[in-house]
Amino acid sequence: MTGRLDGKVAIITGASTGLGPVMGAMFVREGAQVLLAARREELVQEAASAAGKGAIAMRADVTSEDDVAAMVTRAVEAFGQVDIMCNNAAAPGIDKWVWEQELDNWNATIAIDVTAAMLCSREVLRQSMIERRSGVILNFSSTAGYNGIVRKTHYVTAKASLRAFTKAVALEVGQFGIRCNCIVPGSIDTELWQNWVRRLAGEQNLEYETLRERMLQGNPLRTISSCEDVANLALFLASDESRTITGQSIPVDAGGYMQG
Ligand code: NAD
Repeated sequence: MTGRLDGKVAIITGASTGLGPVMGAMFVREGAQVLLAARREELVQEAASAAGKGAIAMRADVTSEDDVAAMVTRAVEAFGQVDIMCNNAAAPGIDKWVWEQELDNWNATIAIDVTAAMLCSREVLRQSMIERRSGVILNFSSTAGYNGIVRKTHYVTAKASLRAFTKAVALEVGQFGIRCNCIVPGSIDTELWQNWVRRLAGEQNLEYETLRERMLQGNPLRTISSCEDVANLALFLASDESRTITGQSIPVDAGGYMQG
């Protein structure tokens, strides 16, 4: 049976919870060899075991230059190359009105949500992609970067800037046959999102289910993306099926934000 990623090697960061492990397992099923990286070693080991043969795990904090360099080196040593870099790791930071914003919260969010994507992209380009004249870099933004969300200036600023980063990288690396695109999820039905909605519901004296339903009804498709829905777009953008698509930011959000 042929897979859509046969012969490819991928790195997925932040691969211990939510979308990362789902994407890892999907990539392995499609024939890729995958390095799953995250800070919590036990969780990422579990994710690699669940993804099956072809997946390995490694502890890496992607805000650390040394960890990022070691992560890419490990993938090259284990699998010989890196074809796909998924800059999935992220953190929402602490909710603060802008007049309460604290520099530590701001800087930490920019470091994980933006700077880490630059470090990982830089490293795969240096260690594998430019030399091989091939590769795909995927950034993971959020529709919060289009619409804004109150008390999240740090997060929406970080996520919006990933779209500009994607365009500049795509411009630079196109000459080497390397593509860079940005996936822009709306809500994904993960623990991260559910905990956030639970907290908002508490603040508004609502049941979680009531607020969740209200939010879903706000979308044209009146639903929410699963991790598989988002991973499907990542799979397409990582594969050669999208070989002439670069520099694009593509929402996967049940129609909540419509571009064009
Ligand atoms: P998640 O929190 O479950 O996964 C992100 C992972 O990144 C976590 O496991 C976290 O521990 C890890 N991480 C944080 N800092 C790190 C660091 N310094 N080094 C390595 N790993 C680190 O989130 P998710 O719901 O799976 O989201 C996946 C992607 O989609 C993220 O980029 C997120 O911002 C984006 N997104 C999610 C939603 C949503 O509703 N869940 C909405 C829009 C965008």
